[in-house]
Amino acid sequence: MRYFSLNNRKHSASFEQAVVKGLAPDKGLYFPEKIPHLSSGFFKKLDKLSKTEIAFEAIKDFVGDEISEAALLDIIDETLDFEFPVVPVEKDIGTLELFHGPTLAFKDVGARFMAGSLGYFIKKGNLGKITVLVATSGDTGGAVANGFLGVEGIDVVILYPKGKVSEIQEKQLTTLGKNITALEVDGAFDECQDMVKKAFLDEEITSKRQLTSANSINIARWLPQMFYYLLAYKQLSNHKEKLVFSVPSGNFGNICAGLVAREMGLPVDHFVAANNENDVVTRYLKTGEYEPRSSVQTISNAMDVGNPSNFARVLELFKNEYGALKKHLSSYSFSDSETKRAIKQVYEKDGYVMDPHGAVGYLGLKSFMKENPGFYGTFLETAHPVKFLDVVEKSIGKKIEIPKAIQSVMEKEKRSIPIKDYKELKDFLMK
Ligand SMILES: *Cc1c(COP(=O)(O)O)cnc(C)c1O
Repeated sequence: MRYFSLNNRKHSASFEQAVVKGLAPDKGLYFPEKIPHLSSGFFKKLDKLSKTEIAFEAIKDFVGDEISEAALLDIIDETLDFEFPVVPVEKDIGTLELFHGPTLAFKDVGARFMAGSLGYFIKKGNLGKITVLVATSGDTGGAVANGFLGVEGIDVVILYPKGKVSEIQEKQLTTLGKNITALEVDGAFDECQDMVKKAFLDEEITSKRQLTSANSINIARWLPQMFYYLLAYKQLSNHKEKLVFSVPSGNFGNICAGLVAREMGLPVDHFVAANNENDVVTRYLKTGEYEPRSSVQTISNAMDVGNPSNFARVLELFKNEYGALKKHLSSYSFSDSETKRAIKQVYEKDGYVMDPHGAVGYLGLKSFMKENPGFYGTFLETAHPVKFLDVVEKSIGKKIEIPKAIQSVMEKEKRSIPIKDYKELKDFLMK
């Protein structure tokens, strides 16, 4: 499969090149030259296939012969070695729990798949050492650190804003050691992000170190997210109603992968992009005007994105036809107080505890289903509620139990290197 740059269709790259580079040289996002089709027979026999078999069928044409079949099966096996249950919540509504991975966030899947692919290319070829450089506001860092831990030939450097990630998130970033280094930045997330961007453009650094990023811009982190929707469909296919997925969205990587699965033939009628007050896309679907703005801070902070990078891919998927896009995608936005109220109400009514991101997904689904009867709806739970302990416990008025996997991380010792400014980052990367 070739991938072209959304900024210039004449520039294209192989799967390997696109994974190693992340972004095209002209800063465009990579997009597959064609979307393969899965047969209706495949969807009919889904319940007889394992997770690995399903995922392999879905991703194999995107990878082509660049990773051997045996190695790709191994990468998928390791990526998906936890559960993806659809749990009924109330009448005609269920939730797809994506938080059973090692860092309790759905980003584990993309991070592991990317680590496996990049690790394979390093082992195979003459790429040399690679440094994965990422800024995190919370969940990305932990998933990336965990996914890349111990992968030969890769160093991971994570920048995080001092005092602005939760205690659990900080422990997940700073306690692993080995090839993972956490830089604790005296500043906000935006400053971490700016420093990372600057480093990518700094030739003194890039002549010395091969840098790549590990956010959902990278096709190896973006595409495997289509697995969630196939694994959910396997559990939902006996429903007679039409199906709709509601996806709590920030950078729009996850929902875009779901839309790719639909394009490949997944029998899902509709998608809802659920947003917090960062509502660029909600507004776009209402007015036709796409107006990015700076992000505002909310309790569903992994979705505090003012200019979602993957929306360009969503538009490409619908060939920039506004009518087609609106037919398959709706979007709604919610405030923090609506989100907290939903966490409380669903707990009291249904006994189910949602995290703030899942709660936004739930609200989006309810709004859509009110206007469109006859659907069975699934919202994605993108993080375990324990990662947002404060908000969740205050909303439901009760303590929640900390899972064992997290308890052991909490006992480990934090190791980070304090960083004040870009010069200190550069000194670190140059040594
Ligand atoms: C990253 C993240 C999101 C947003 O996903 P996108 O693919 O960026 O839209 C939603 N919820 C949680 C918990 C996340 O960590």
